[in-house]
Amino acid sequence: MHSEQVERWQNWSGSVQAIPRQIVKPHSVDELARLIGAYGRDGRRVRVAGAGHSFTPLVQSDDVLVSLDELQGIEKIDTEHSTVTVLGGTRLKSLGEALYVHGLAQENLGDIDVQSISGAISTGTHGTGVRFGTLSTQVERLTLVTAAGELLECSPERDPAVFKAAQVSLGMLGVIARVALRAVPARRMRFQSHRERLGLLAALGVLPVGSTAHYFRQQALSSGHCPC
Ligand SMILES: Cc1cc2nc3c(=O)[nH]c(=O)nc-3n(C[C@H](O)[C@H](O)[C@H](O)COP(=O)(O)OP(=O)(O)OC[C@H]3O[C@@H](n4cnc5c(N)ncnc54)[C@H](O)[C@@H]3O)c2cc1C
Repeated sequence: MHSEQVERWQNWSGSVQAIPRQIVKPHSVDELARLIGAYGRDGRRVRVAGAGHSFTPLVQSDDVLVSLDELQGIEKIDTEHSTVTVLGGTRLKSLGEALYVHGLAQENLGDIDVQSISGAISTGTHGTGVRFGTLSTQVERLTLVTAAGELLECSPERDPAVFKAAQVSLGMLGVIARVALRAVPARRMRFQSHRERLGLLAALGVLPVGSTAHYFRQQALSSGHCPC
């Protein structure tokens, strides 16, 4: 285990900061479970961090902060059933690259790919398109580490109530150690982008299916900084 004492943690934008008593980075699912069980027994307060891309103080902790930075990677890609099993800290970018090699992709994504799969699932991260669910709807199976340090497998068939709750649980139901996701065939897509005045978009009312809109303040664009 990699354990860092008295280190400042901050989210991506720096708007949320904390100095946890301890930051731990387990290297295996077993080690993660062992640690969480021990913290539970000792009455410690544990938060789990993904890539720190949430704007709100979800991860902020003055006690134990568990990071799954060392618990990343693709465990299995099943091309016959189009599923992929990954460790909880795996970043969306590396997941996408691994899937693409096998002609697969995630069904839908948000506008960045640096999040951890568990953080994206736990917050209901979504892309656009009325026919797509959030990323958590791509989940087929989860391995959760409970506060008692037990490994709990859940899916729509196995412990369905826990599975439903864990799909968007903001890190409050346990630590997602492993995720099995449904993938789709990879497609070649063409990216088109143009600017439109807000008034015109408001007049249109509804955007065509498959399109997406981002609202940027003009001064932010001209200074080259994205305000997202
Ligand atoms: C520039 C930018 C663009 C964005 N674009 C979009 C977008 O297009 N669509 C959208 O919906 N959102 C978007 N977001 C929001 C982002 O997708 C979410 O905040 C997402 O949760 C970030 O993932 P993360 O890995 O950084 O998680 P974190 O922010 O680190 O954590 C988020 C939550 O997940 C929990 N968590 C993390 N890991 C685990 C785990 N292993 N087990 C259990 N719980 C865990 C944490 O405790 C916390 O409650 C954007 C954010 C930024 C900064």
